[in-house]
Amino acid sequence: MKPLSSSVLALAPSMTVAIDTRAKELQAAGQDIVALGAGEPDFDTPDHIKDAAIASLREGKTKYTSPTGIPELKQAVSDKLLRENGIQIPPDQIVISSGVKHAVANVLQTLLNPGDEVIIPAPYWVTYPELVKLYGGTPVFVHSSVETGYKITPEALEAAITPRTKAFLLCNPSNPTGMVYGRSDLEAFAKILVKHDVYVISDEIYEHILYDGRKPVSIASLGDDIAALTLIVNGVSKAYAMTGWRIGFFAGPARIAKAIGALQSQATHHPANVSQYAAVAALNGGLEFVYKMGEEFTRRRDFVVAALRAIPGVKAPLPEGAFYALPEVSSFYGKKTPKGKVIQGSLDLCAYLLADELLAVVPGAAFGDDRCIRLSYATSMDNLQKAMDRLRHGLTALV
Ligand code: PMP
Ligand code: GLU
Repeated sequence: MKPLSSSVLALAPSMTVAIDTRAKELQAAGQDIVALGAGEPDFDTPDHIKDAAIASLREGKTKYTSPTGIPELKQAVSDKLLRENGIQIPPDQIVISSGVKHAVANVLQTLLNPGDEVIIPAPYWVTYPELVKLYGGTPVFVHSSVETGYKITPEALEAAITPRTKAFLLCNPSNPTGMVYGRSDLEAFAKILVKHDVYVISDEIYEHILYDGRKPVSIASLGDDIAALTLIVNGVSKAYAMTGWRIGFFAGPARIAKAIGALQSQATHHPANVSQYAAVAALNGGLEFVYKMGEEFTRRRDFVVAALRAIPGVKAPLPEGAFYALPEVSSFYGKKTPKGKVIQGSLDLCAYLLADELLAVVPGAAFGDDRCIRLSYATSMDNLQKAMDRLRHGLTALV
């Protein structure tokens, strides 16, 4: 048999997706698993969005669309960027894709030549480095830790830039850290990126899931120079509880939008017509829904962080956005489970929690920091209560 593509063979499957899939399989098999693996809002898509999708089907909107998306949706994205972010990007500089993951893939595939470097703050979302490598690039990590508040400094960003640096991949608010760079941090990053002519891929998928009165700031809104280098990726998955509809978008410079349009016209054509009509209703329907979810996420965040901090040996920073907690748990490494297995790191710890406590969480190793584990609190309070009991039980049973 001939070998397969070496770049695809080198790809690690997404661990967040793998753990979520495993948890769902175990649940389907009747096991009482509490799943804090995937970051997926537990709320249902609002009815007015479903109704718009159903109406589009009844109107016969079931055929191919333009590869860059239906005009109504590109207009809705353009209007949203102006209204919510103060950014002017016309519809012909917007490309609708099949989720934000696809938008990230499109941007990286369009930007990268072999050996180009992409700077990624760590801990990072699992998918970023794998996609950079898939498209021939080299991920360059700038590390942060619980001790530095899971944030990188502008100096560290600048120190990582080389003549091969093509882009900086900024996830703000961050999955998995829950941390948020504010306006002054972003201004400092922007100055450096403009000075070195480096693109910023700005993943804004959690922009409206912010706590304690924070307001979203897109780095693209901080002046024309940085806007010309900013490649926004965003979508409706999280803000409107629409993960399964698969709608994301790219918004940025015209030549990049054009190249992504050509790529989609050959590779995927366009996301499902019906989902695009649903996304129009979502974006034009206001932010009341996401703010309501945010109130609930605030209650859950406070509960989860208090419960984590009450477990001796756990360090738990307070998330500022998104719906993830990333506690540092390395004080448990080297200890033994009741069955006598030594916990060597986050992978062992998560395997133990799943097997012995029926609790699914994601090892920090997947995000480039083995000292922590990630918990998604986009699930009900009942589940979170059970999860925290199980986590406390599992961790305190280690000796
Ligand atoms: N970016 C980040 C930071 C994410 O956490 C996720 C996870 N859903 C995505 C992109 C992908 O979003 P989508 O489901 O729209 O592909
Ligand atoms: N982004 C979510 C997460 O980090 C969903 C799974 C995925 O796409 O990675 O859990």
